[in-house]
Amino acid sequence: MLASMLTDYHLHLRPDEEGTTFERYFTTENVERYLAAADAAGIEELGVSEHVYRFRQALDLWSHPLWVENARDDIDAYCEFVRGTPLRLGVECDYVPGAEERIAALLGARDFDYVVGSVHFVGEGDAAVDHDGFDVWEGGGDADEIWRRYFEALAACARSGLFDILAHPDLVKVWGRSRPLPDRDLRAFYEPAVEAIAESGIAVEVSTAGLRKPVGEIYPSRALAEMCAEAGAEFALSSDAHLPEQVGYGYDQAMEFLEGVGVGRICVFESRNRRLEELGRTGVDAAELGDRGGAET
Ligand SMILES: [Zn+2]
Ligand SMILES: [Zn+2]
Repeated sequence: MLASMLTDYHLHLRPDEEGTTFERYFTTENVERYLAAADAAGIEELGVSEHVYRFRQALDLWSHPLWVENARDDIDAYCEFVRGTPLRLGVECDYVPGAEERIAALLGARDFDYVVGSVHFVGEGDAAVDHDGFDVWEGGGDADEIWRRYFEALAACARSGLFDILAHPDLVKVWGRSRPLPDRDLRAFYEPAVEAIAESGIAVEVSTAGLRKPVGEIYPSRALAEMCAEAGAEFALSSDAHLPEQVGYGYDQAMEFLEGVGVGRICVFESRNRRLEELGRTGVDAAELGDRGGAET
């Protein structure tokens, strides 16, 4: 019997709101709540990936106003705390064009199990695709232009080689129909990112966070996931939980989704080394998934 496994790596121990201090959320009790939720959901591998902009050290990378406002904690105190728990140690780090060497130095100085690379901000200025306060769509916005810029940034993020997992790969769709959508076939926008994913070998995150957002869909879209799978990409599975009750959120749907695109394995990380495991709940025989999983093991 092969072991099967679920992971939840892209995970936050606190909500994004103001006033969520390190002292209040980085506690053994709070970690216990996340571990209990993972256990109940049959998730074996649980890791935390705090936003890099929560740390003072992030201001070496960028001085975006949101970062300046939030960069209060010490990244080494975070690493030390997480190492004292059963959680895997990760971090969610934005790709900041031009800051590659400083990002590499910040990440390389710590013993992370994995690094989740993300794109939230696009183009010139401070605008974000997913943030009300810095909304790229404010005052209109050309959908073709914004989608093109987003996926070019995502391609650069993948190609940078700085990260292990490519976060929420089509985050630009987060607002769903409440923001303009391109008229064209979306696959034209995905193309440069898929090429970069294939070349870099970065793991593509399947994130159920989108199910909790206005778009109401998993990241990435089915079409993007299919293109990645066809290009030979491997996948990582996460909920992007910000609360214990969001651990493993929508995983039945995510497993169905992955099986639907013919993916039967997921990436598991330790000390920034990657291996592949059968996708499935812990304790469930992988053979039960085998027929439907289409895994080419
Ligand atoms: Zn993110
Ligand atoms: Zn996140």
